[in-house]
Amino acid sequence: MSTPLSQNAAPQAGAPQARSAIFTVSPYVGGESKVAGANRVIKLSSNEGAFGPPPGAIKAMAALATQLHRYPDGGSSALRAAIGQHFGLDPARIVCGNGSDELIALLIQSYGGPGSELIMSAHGFLMYEISGKLAGMTVRKVPERNLTADIDAMLAAVGPATRLVFLANPNNPTGSLVPHADIVRLRAGLPSDVLLVLDAAYAEYVDDANYDPGIGLVDAGSNTVMTRTFSKIFGLGGARLGWAYAPAPIIDVLNRARGPFNVNATAVAAIAALAEPGWVAHNRAHNQQARAALTARLSQAGLKVYPSHGNFILVDFGTAARADAADTHLRARGVIVRAMAAYDLARCLRITIGTDEECGLAAEAVEDFLGHG
Ligand SMILES: *Cc1c(COP(=O)(O)O)cnc(C)c1O
Repeated sequence: MSTPLSQNAAPQAGAPQARSAIFTVSPYVGGESKVAGANRVIKLSSNEGAFGPPPGAIKAMAALATQLHRYPDGGSSALRAAIGQHFGLDPARIVCGNGSDELIALLIQSYGGPGSELIMSAHGFLMYEISGKLAGMTVRKVPERNLTADIDAMLAAVGPATRLVFLANPNNPTGSLVPHADIVRLRAGLPSDVLLVLDAAYAEYVDDANYDPGIGLVDAGSNTVMTRTFSKIFGLGGARLGWAYAPAPIIDVLNRARGPFNVNATAVAAIAALAEPGWVAHNRAHNQQARAALTARLSQAGLKVYPSHGNFILVDFGTAARADAADTHLRARGVIVRAMAAYDLARCLRITIGTDEECGLAAEAVEDFLGHG
C-alpha cells in the first residue's frame, strides 16, 4: 500500500493559517500502482505509454547519473532547440515546465487570481480546477454534450471576470475530440483579452482529419497557448517534462513566473525520446489497434465504451456502485484502472491502453466481473 496523504488535519488556534483558497481543493490523487497481495500488477491507471521509456532515453538517463552534482540547464535551451526542430517551431516561443501541469499552474497564477473566473468543460482535466481554485479563482464547469465540450455553452459562460478558458483536446478522461473548426469558432467568440489554453497532451495519438493541436491559432494571435507533454506517448511521466508554445509576451510572463531550475536534468531523456526512430509511429499504431480491440471486446460484453482519441478508454458501468464493484474486482486480480468520481463520472472507469497482453488481462478481469455480477 502507498503511504496515505495527510488530510483534514486542521491547524490549531495560534498556529500558522494557510490562505483559505487552499482548503477549497482536495489533494490530487494520482493513479495507484500497487495492490496488496498481487504478484503482478497491471497498471492502467495513469495513461502512461504502453512500452516504457524509449531506449535512447534510458541510455541518456544512465549517463546523467554521473552528472547529478551539476545544476540543470535553467533555460532548457537544448530541449527547446530539440522541440523546435522536431515540430518546426521557433525555440524562443517555447517554455518548458516540470510537466505540463506546472505550465497550467503558472498560466493560471499569471493571468488569473482572486475575483477572476476560469472556464472549463464539466469533465475537463482536473488540474485546471485545482490550480484555478488554489489561485483563488471561480472555476466554471460548463455542461457537455455526449461527454464532449460544448463550445457554444462555453462561450455563453464567458463574463466580464473571465480570464482563462482551458480545453484539453483530446480530453482526458472522456477521450472526446473537438474538431478544429469549432476551436477556431471558440477563439473567435472569446474576448481578445481572454487567454485560451489548448492542452494537447494526447496530440500524437490522434488520427482524425478534423484535428489540429493549435499551433496555427497560437501563431495567429496574442491570446492562445498550446501545452504539450512528454508524459504520454513519449513514455517519460516520471521525468516531469512538458512544454508550452505561446506568443512572445506570454513566453516572457512564463519565464518570469517559473522557478530558475523548474525543469531538471531529466530533460536529456526528452531530447533522446524525440530522436528515437519510429517511436511515435509505433506507439500510435499500437494504440489504435489495441484501443479498437479493447473497445470492441468490452462493448461485446455489454458495456458502453465512449469513443476515444487518446491512449485510454472510458467505460460506463451504469451506476457508481457497479463501477466501484468492478474496480474492486479488477484490483483483486492485480489490474489497476482509474475510478472517476473526482470527474463527476462515478459510473465509469478509465482504462489506459497498455500492451496487448495487459489489455487482454484487463478485458478478462472485466468479463469475469460481469460473469459474477
Ligand atoms: C496527463 C495530462 C497532462 C499532464 O501532463 P504532465 O506533463 O505529466 O504534467 C496534462 N493535460 C492532460 C489532459 C493530461 O491528461
